Amino acid sequence: MELAKQLLSLAKKRVHPTVLGTKPLSCNGHSAVLFENRILVLKKGSKSDDQIWFLEVDTEYVRQQRKKLGTEVVAWSKGVIGNAEKPIVISGPSGVGKGTLISMLMKEFPSMFGFSVSHTTRAPRNMEKDGVHYHFTEKSVMEKEIKSGKFLEFASVHGNLYGTSVEAVEVVADAGKRCILDIDVQGARSVRASSLEAIFIFVCPPSMEELEKRLRDRGTETEEQILKRLRNAQAEIEQGKSSNIFDFILYNDNLEECYDRLKKLLGLDGFVATSPKSAAPREINLPTDHSVSKIDDKIIISCISSGLDKESKNSIMLDVSSLKGGAPGRTRGLDFQVIGSMDQLS
Ligand code: ADP
Ligand code: 5GP
Repeated sequence: MELAKQLLSLAKKRVHPTVLGTKPLSCNGHSAVLFENRILVLKKGSKSDDQIWFLEVDTEYVRQQRKKLGTEVVAWSKGVIGNAEKPIVISGPSGVGKGTLISMLMKEFPSMFGFSVSHTTRAPRNMEKDGVHYHFTEKSVMEKEIKSGKFLEFASVHGNLYGTSVEAVEVVADAGKRCILDIDVQGARSVRASSLEAIFIFVCPPSMEELEKRLRDRGTETEEQILKRLRNAQAEIEQGKSSNIFDFILYNDNLEECYDRLKKLLGLDGFVATSPKSAAPREINLPTDHSVSKIDDKIIISCISSGLDKESKNSIMLDVSSLKGGAPGRTRGLDFQVIGSMDQLS
């Protein structure tokens, strides 16, 4: 009821809020229902992975953005049936072996993990491909995109901008894979403070001498860049070890042993790599012409067309009791049950 009052007051004042998030594409009508601090919007006649949307009106994210922007704000978030596994955030000083460990994990478990492709303003290295290792971008473009709310987190690292877009993480989860983020300590802190629940791992070198050797042997940076990265490494290691951001600290001395420890903490020791990938997201088929009502934390979507076949006359009970995430990313944790046609119920 509070939300209804708030919406009415906005409408009376003719306030046009700033709309954040990716908007749903237009469709042949929709139904909607007020639900706690957001509006559930069900699109009619859309594809099964594009039917459920939330327009957040007074969630934590919206309140934060309202304060930050100084205007009224609403935010779109796409609804997804089922949950995604917690993403894994890996941080550590440059040259410690994060990329090497991530590559080993993705090679052994290709259908289980997906990499969050960050944006960066630094120049590509020889073997790096745009869209695979990073989205290489211009500073002015990235700054504009940061303002528009495209990024889950961003930071200035070793003199360049780096950032994780909301979409980079969500596309991995949409594919039914567990997302791995390779980001610096500032980025890890921002993710910790966001609505994204993740596991945080900090990778430490055995010594500063060994870190320097690895950076030099990699041969991808100029002398000036190597010195800058080494200067920053000391502070990163101190923060990584002492802050409350990280759940695990891994020492990367012997690579194989470190990789084994990584697999163990992810519950993958003894895991057969050829196992089928995690269950594909369940799909929901909403009746094209429907009405929607709310009973506690269940949404009843009832078919209102006559003369359709039995399957399309089915009603659906959408369970919104365990929602996770939300704007600026997807709203996950939805569940549903087909409850037969309303004729059968009456
Ligand atoms: P990061 O992604 O953390 O910057 P990389 O994965 O690129 O680091 O590793 C830096 C260099 O160190 C690479 O040349 C890599 O082959 C090497 N390396 C990684 N782990 C080890 C290790 N445990 N022992 C020796 N060399 C390593
Ligand atoms: P590199 O230039 O060696 O690829 O990365 C330099 C540093 O930037 C590494 O510490 C890496 O973890 C960090 N980094 C890469 N992508 C991101 C990102 O999206 N956000 C943040 N905050 N740091 C990133």
